[in-house]
Amino acid sequence: MTIIRYTPIKEIPKIRETLRATFKAGVTRPLEWRKHQLYQLARLAQNEADAICDALNKDLSKPRLEVLRTEVGNIVERATKSAQKLDVWAAPEHPDVPDWQKGWKPTILKAPRGTVLIMSPWNYPFILTFQPLIGAIAAGCCAAIKPSEVSPHLSQLISDLLPKYLDPSAYQIVNGAVPETTRLLELQWDHIFYTGNGRVARILAVAAAKHLTPLALELGGKCPVLVDSTYDMDLAAKRILWGKCNNAGQICVAPDYIIVPRSKQGEFVESLKKAYKTFFPDSALGASHYGSIVNDSHFHRLSSLLERTKGEKVTDIIEGRKDAARKRIEPTVVKNVQDGDPLLEEELFGPILPIIPVDSLDEAFAFINARPHPLVLYAFTEDPNIKQRRALCLPFTVCFISRKHFIVIDETQSGGLVFNDTFQQLTVDELPFAGVGESGYGYQVMKYTYDTYTQLRSSVDIPKEAERSLQLRYPPHGPEAVKALSRAVHLPIPQSALNGH
Ligand code: NAD
Repeated sequence: MTIIRYTPIKEIPKIRETLRATFKAGVTRPLEWRKHQLYQLARLAQNEADAICDALNKDLSKPRLEVLRTEVGNIVERATKSAQKLDVWAAPEHPDVPDWQKGWKPTILKAPRGTVLIMSPWNYPFILTFQPLIGAIAAGCCAAIKPSEVSPHLSQLISDLLPKYLDPSAYQIVNGAVPETTRLLELQWDHIFYTGNGRVARILAVAAAKHLTPLALELGGKCPVLVDSTYDMDLAAKRILWGKCNNAGQICVAPDYIIVPRSKQGEFVESLKKAYKTFFPDSALGASHYGSIVNDSHFHRLSSLLERTKGEKVTDIIEGRKDAARKRIEPTVVKNVQDGDPLLEEELFGPILPIIPVDSLDEAFAFINARPHPLVLYAFTEDPNIKQRRALCLPFTVCFISRKHFIVIDETQSGGLVFNDTFQQLTVDELPFAGVGESGYGYQVMKYTYDTYTQLRSSVDIPKEAERSLQLRYPPHGPEAVKALSRAVHLPIPQSALNGH
C-alpha cells in the first residue's frame, strides 16, 4: 500500500508560480487575512488531533500524550497567540532620531520576504513543519512546505488536511524524497527554512547561494550535560533521563552525553536506575509511553554503536534490551566512556546515554570546547561561580588570573544554555531557539519566527522644507560646508577603562 503520494516533479515549478502569483497579487498582505489563516492552522491541529496522533503512532510509535503535549498543543497555542500578537509585531516602528531628522519620518516597515520554502524532518514532523509556517503566515509570506518522506503517514495526512484549512493558493505541500527536493532547490525562493541534519544543510546552502537566498538552518549535534559534584544526583538523573526518553532520544535537544565527576559516577548511575524504575516499572521496552526508533536503518545504526562502544554497559536495570520487530531500544546507560569512543563520534539521536567521568571541571570544559558548538548545553549546578565568571568578576585582571573558576556562560559556546533541567526550555515561547556554528543559525519560535520571515524595510520621506538644512551638501563646497560635512571625523572619543591595552 502506498502511504505517501509524491508530488510529480513537473508540478513543482507550477506550484511555485501559483504561490508567487498569490504573493504578488497582495493576497497575504492584510493582517486580518493572516490572522484568519493562523486561526485556521490552530483549528487544523485541534480538530485533527486524533488523526495526527494516529499518523505519528504509525510512523514512530509516538505515545499519544507526547504528541498532544509536544506537537499538537504547541501549534494550537502558538498559532493562536501569534494571531493575537500580530498587530503589535507588524506595526511600523519609528526610531528615535536627532531633531534635525525627525521631519523625515524615519520608519521601519515590516515587509514579508515573499515566497518561501520550508523543509522539515521526521522526528517531530508536525510541530517542525507548522512552527516555521506560523511565522511565514504571520509575516505575510506564501510558502511551499516539504515534509519528510521518513515519516510518511504524517506527511500524507498534512498534505490531505492543509487545503481543507488554509488557502491553497498561498500554502502548498510538496511531498517526495531527494529528486523532488533537488527540483525544489533548483528554483529561486525568497527564504528557505530548513530543519534537519548538517550534511543536507550543506547541500541546501550551496543551492541557495546560487540565488543568494537567505537561510535559517535549524540543525542538531551532540548536546552535552555537565553535572557538578555538589548537585543532587537523584534530581539530575531524573531530569536527564526524562529529557532523553522523549521520542526515545530522537530529538535535537536530547542530552547526548553526560560529564560527571569521577568520584560521583557510581552514585549518578544508581540515581539513573532509581529514576528508570519509577518511569518504567515493567521496562521501557513494552511501555505505551515510550516510543520506537523511526526505521530499520536508524535501529541498526544505534545497535551497531552499542556493539562497538568500549564503555561499560550498565546491565542490571538499564540494560538496553532491544526488540527489532518493534524497532525499540530501552534507554541504555554506558559508563566510563572515553574520548575516541564510537558513542562520541556523531549525534546519537537515540536512547543511549554515555557517561564520561572527569577529574576536574577544567577537563570537562576542555572536552566540551574541543567539539563543535552544540545546539544546547545543559549544566546541573547551583554554584554561581560555575555558572558565570562575570558574577565574581571585579576587577577584570583578578578575574583573568583566577583560572580556578570554571565558568559555563563565559567559557563555552552553544545555541542555548539550560541550567538544572533538560528539554523544558522548549516550553518558553518568549525565548529564541537557534543553533550556533555546526548547530545552525536563524532564530525561531513565535516573534522570532515572524522576524525571520520579515524584512526590515527602512523608509524616510524627506519634505521639501528640509531643503534649507540640506543646502551644504551640494557642490561646490566652501570651507564652512567642508567643516560641517566632516564634523563626525573630529568627534571626541571617550576614554575607556582599558585605554592603552
Ligand atoms: P530528514 O531525513 O527527514 O531530512 C530533512 C529534510 O531534508 C527532508 O525534508 C528530506 O526530504 C530532505 N533531504 C534529505 N536528504 C536530502 C538531500 N540529499 N538533498 C536534499 N534534501 C534532502 O531528517 P534528518 O536530517 O534525519 O533529521 C534529523 C536531524 O535534524 C538531526 O540532526 C536533528 O538534530 C536535527 N533537528 C534539528 C532541530 C532543530 O530545531 N535544531 C529539530 C529537529 C531535528
